[in-house]
Amino acid sequence: MSTVVNPDLNKKLAKFGNKSEWNECFHCGNCTAVCSLTEDGNLFPRKVIRQLQMGLKDKFISNVDPWLCYYCGECSETCPRDANPGEMMMSARRYLTSVYDWTGLSGLFYSSVPALIIGFVLVAVLMIGIGFTKHFNTEAIMDFGHHFEKYLILAVASLILTPNIIRMFWFTILKEKIKAPLISYIKEIWELILHMFTQINSLKCENNTFRWLEHLLIVFGYLLLLFTTVFLNWFSTENTFVIWLGYITGGVIFVFTFDFILSRIRKNKELSKFSHPSDWLFVIWLFLMGFTAFIVRILIDTDLISNNLWLYIVHLIIIAQWGILIVPFGKWTHFLYRSFAIYFANLKKTGLNV
Ligand code: SF4
Ligand code: SF4
Repeated sequence: MSTVVNPDLNKKLAKFGNKSEWNECFHCGNCTAVCSLTEDGNLFPRKVIRQLQMGLKDKFISNVDPWLCYYCGECSETCPRDANPGEMMMSARRYLTSVYDWTGLSGLFYSSVPALIIGFVLVAVLMIGIGFTKHFNTEAIMDFGHHFEKYLILAVASLILTPNIIRMFWFTILKEKIKAPLISYIKEIWELILHMFTQINSLKCENNTFRWLEHLLIVFGYLLLLFTTVFLNWFSTENTFVIWLGYITGGVIFVFTFDFILSRIRKNKELSKFSHPSDWLFVIWLFLMGFTAFIVRILIDTDLISNNLWLYIVHLIIIAQWGILIVPFGKWTHFLYRSFAIYFANLKKTGLNV
């Protein structure tokens, strides 16, 4: 198979965050040696840097290694050339997200802040417009909001995320002619689910237990809040258990994401030294979702919602921006692609051993 060299790969990746510091790399191999997640067959981050420096675009796109990194930052701390391999892996994940996305919108939003702002403004205008068509009637708008979330989840999962996962499968397995036995596809599903919900591999990073726990609580808090609002109709229910479940999950989300925001402001850890706009959007919107959901429910419980409908509309705008822009095209997708990357990496291993 011929190898196509793309000399612009370097410049392309720079648009996704890292400013080409990896060109300083002289391949001492220190980063791979200190990385507690690298193993035989997945020798990152050095191998990824090599592919970038040589412009091996096809090899790079078929590589799942960037997703196996949990950005502990140990490689960047110990790199003798300040090549920032940890941040390079993060930029590589953003770039790969744009490659998997059939719509092209991930690439646009990752590389253009004005496009991102326009997208956010348009979604806000759309939600206010819908409020207008409902004559800003509290019940009608809240009913719309409830159904909107359900249909949005269905549309994003079927029209964007599923085709993108299929494309990822094409680039990493089919195009590479990896022939894993059918039984591995079934056996590895458990690993896929385990890593999707627990991110357990990140515990291999040194002193990462607290961060892992925070992530775990946010993931479960987020999923539970989604379930409570969308399927248990939190804003309309009178069931005490559901009401408290919503309060707790909303609270968990905004308390822990606030800690993530503080960490990015302080830049006191290697992993929070560089913040791309997509990193800010992710933590701030997650915080705002939990916070505004919490306040809206308080207003409902105190019968003040009709006089403060604007707050529900703000919450709806935040949910819509999250669901239409961040979930399908932004950092949320990393949650999905990382789990599938582990799944595909396991298939590759079994395929190569056949
Ligand atoms: S430690 Fe730095 S210089 Fe050495 S291989 Fe890794 S990125 Fe390159
Ligand atoms: S950031 Fe951590 S997990 Fe990622 S490549 Fe570097 S050492 Fe490995």
